[in-house]
Amino acid sequence: MHYDPVLSKLLDGLSFQDIDNADDIVFALNAALEITYVNHGWIRFAENNGGDTVSERWSVGSRFMDAIPSFLRPFYREHFAKVFAENRPWEHQFECSSPDLFRRFHMLSYPLGEAERILVVNSLVQEDPHTEILCEPNEGLYRNQEGLVIQCCHCRRVRRNGLNQQWDMVPSWVAAIPPNTSHGLCYPCISYYYASSINADRGFPEPFQTREVN
Ligand SMILES: [Zn+2]
Repeated sequence: MHYDPVLSKLLDGLSFQDIDNADDIVFALNAALEITYVNHGWIRFAENNGGDTVSERWSVGSRFMDAIPSFLRPFYREHFAKVFAENRPWEHQFECSSPDLFRRFHMLSYPLGEAERILVVNSLVQEDPHTEILCEPNEGLYRNQEGLVIQCCHCRRVRRNGLNQQWDMVPSWVAAIPPNTSHGLCYPCISYYYASSINADRGFPEPFQTREVN
């Protein structure tokens, strides 16, 4: 637990302890979108999903935008700015599947104070064993002519080489990202989770943007 006195003051009637002990994954951001607080639910999730790597990227004092892929940053920056400007919550859904489980979260971002904090509550809304066909890490099938594996940063499926519409779940590549993997967003994720942004003037999101290579 990391105590954030500003957050505690702003909660106004809500119990800091309840939030801290909640099963939901809760964190808080300041106006600069730096992480000022994470709860026990967050710590448990980090321990079960990547441990030190996750904890390091999402620790108190780090910047939210540094922890997410660059091409998702305009989306979050725009919506968090609106949370502050319009002083009302924003909700979003995202997937964070493991090699064994399909997982979907509902994310609610609440403005607190005079644009002092955003409290972000992530609730698990679906967790089921994968029902789709699970695929083997076949280099010939997935690595493209540039030598890259293209993984959707949202659902973590990988694109079949030469087939833009075909994205497969490869559990072993969810567990450990293969070398030379570039991240984008698949069409199903764009259509389902980011539909409101498809027609945005700024042209975000564009499918298959692959600006980062791990
Ligand atoms: Zn996807």
